[in-house]
Amino acid sequence: MVKFKELLDMVNGMDAELSYREKALREASSNNGWYKCSKCGKSFRAKDMDADHITPRSRGGGNEKANLQLICKHCNRSKGADMSDTAADLVKNITAQAKRRRDVEKTQRDFLKKSFN
Ligand SMILES: [Zn+2]
Repeated sequence: MVKFKELLDMVNGMDAELSYREKALREASSNNGWYKCSKCGKSFRAKDMDADHITPRSRGGGNEKANLQLICKHCNRSKGADMSDTAADLVKNITAQAKRRRDVEKTQRDFLKKSFN
């Protein structure tokens, strides 16, 4: 008998196999192949999107879905300049990340419940 927690770990483990770009693309909702940039809000094709770490890797942000967002290549290039990386920014990022993680976990739980009930 497989325990619920083990199933969740399995699902999370499968995610870890994907590159973080694939993960971000998969997680994002697309409108017929158009993806919305989390920064500027404009829509682009997948090839023009980059995965961005909400909490930077340099600050301990991981490759999990909750820490990834899709942004366009233009925003990704111009990010360096405007990313002040202050304590306030980090708190904001971590809060956003925690919310996304809860959303992801809820989606996974709902999916598993539906599949096994
Ligand atoms: Zn953009």
